[in-house]
Amino acid sequence: MIEKIVIANRGEIALRILRACWELDIKTVAVHSDVDRDLKHVLLADESVCIGPAPSGQSYLNIPALISAAEITDATAIHPGYGFLAENADFAERVEQSGFIFIGPRAETIRLMGDKVSAIKAMKAAGVPCVPGSDGPLGNDDQTNLRLAREIGYPIIIKAAGGGGGRGMREVHSEAHLLNAIALTRSEAKATFNNDMVYMEKFLEDPRHIEFQVLADEHGNAIHLGERDCSMQRRHQKVVEEAPAPGITAEMRERMGKVCAEACVRIGYRGAGTFEFLYQDGEFYFIEMNTRIQVEHPVTERVTGVDLVAEQIRIASGMELSVKQKDIVISGHAIECRINAEDPRTFMPSPGLVTQYHAPGGAGIRMDSHLYSGYRVPPNYDSLIGKLIAYGNTRESAIARMRTALKEIGIEGIKTNVALQRDIMEDAHFQKGGTNIHYLEKKLGL
Ligand code: ADP
Repeated sequence: MIEKIVIANRGEIALRILRACWELDIKTVAVHSDVDRDLKHVLLADESVCIGPAPSGQSYLNIPALISAAEITDATAIHPGYGFLAENADFAERVEQSGFIFIGPRAETIRLMGDKVSAIKAMKAAGVPCVPGSDGPLGNDDQTNLRLAREIGYPIIIKAAGGGGGRGMREVHSEAHLLNAIALTRSEAKATFNNDMVYMEKFLEDPRHIEFQVLADEHGNAIHLGERDCSMQRRHQKVVEEAPAPGITAEMRERMGKVCAEACVRIGYRGAGTFEFLYQDGEFYFIEMNTRIQVEHPVTERVTGVDLVAEQIRIASGMELSVKQKDIVISGHAIECRINAEDPRTFMPSPGLVTQYHAPGGAGIRMDSHLYSGYRVPPNYDSLIGKLIAYGNTRESAIARMRTALKEIGIEGIKTNVALQRDIMEDAHFQKGGTNIHYLEKKLGL
């Protein structure tokens, strides 16, 4: 087993990784920017190293500083969490070249999946159903592009091969706008991702976002842990996630889960990963694979009983998965509400001093948060300050427990989206289950 891990992240996920390390008797090194000295996991870790000033480009994205932190603390491995460098193939490569274990897939796998065009190609070859589209990057010939779009049928969406975080996409509803949209997306993609490759897909008008969790080790074992529904989104950012997805039958889960697990074996996948699909009219369409732990992993942990972060560490240590496919039984229902430091109406970030923090509790409640009374949320990073997870034997009971927990939670001093989450839990359509990815924005009048 790995002996000492550098946690190359911050906030709730850094604390989550620290807890897994404690449980597995692994020593921890927290790295932090100079405004993050008071982060909970930094105070709790065995060692901590300041890696630079507040801007993440100079700290959490600073590869040489992170490698140095691993060197001076004599660490064995680096866990990237999510965001920051988690899906940066160059980072994974540098970590391994420097003699440390990268807790994640091989660099070449991250590279393959990081480029959406090559990811779709690999997935198609592995038998994963994809959105009808251009089957590769768009060239510069207008007539060919016009013909492609006509064949696919409007509306279509132009997407950047290197895109991420909901950016680098443009819907096109009629032929008159196609060429301009391609040119705009191309130049944005060049400026934002330094990669002007774009491709075309059928735009699905009212899909749900359903994703499958997988785990694969280096001994050829790959399993799926069922699906999550993450359709409650605003600006392509997930707000509520749940497992299992309402209306997905055991038979569909088996079939799609198997497709994903087999694709893992085929591409030589290692670690935890997520296959993201749009789901419409009973069909799944692959959109991308995330080669890391996801924010919403706890709902899967709750309904399967598998500790995904501990499995990541075991896999990185060269061990076999601790569970087999037949051991994975989906039981009950789990819902996660993301708690953000933001105004519940304008969505403007609301950093500042948390004067009082009270975590909710009770049966079936899990609160993953780095907050404590007296902690100051810095303005420099993502506004996610916690994740509230409620579990019940049924979806109704999970919602009831979530509603209770959202009454009990106390965060004073900063604005949060707790009021929005309460509204969603009271919403009749949410309660019914199966709302699509546009539902929340429509409800908010956006
Ligand atoms: P990112 O890497 O930026 O998250 P994704 O490819 O995962 O990009 O897409 C993010 C979101 O954009 C999806 O969850 C969905 O809401 C929307 N989207 C992407 N592709 C399509 C499509 N073909 N049709 C409709 N919506 C789409």
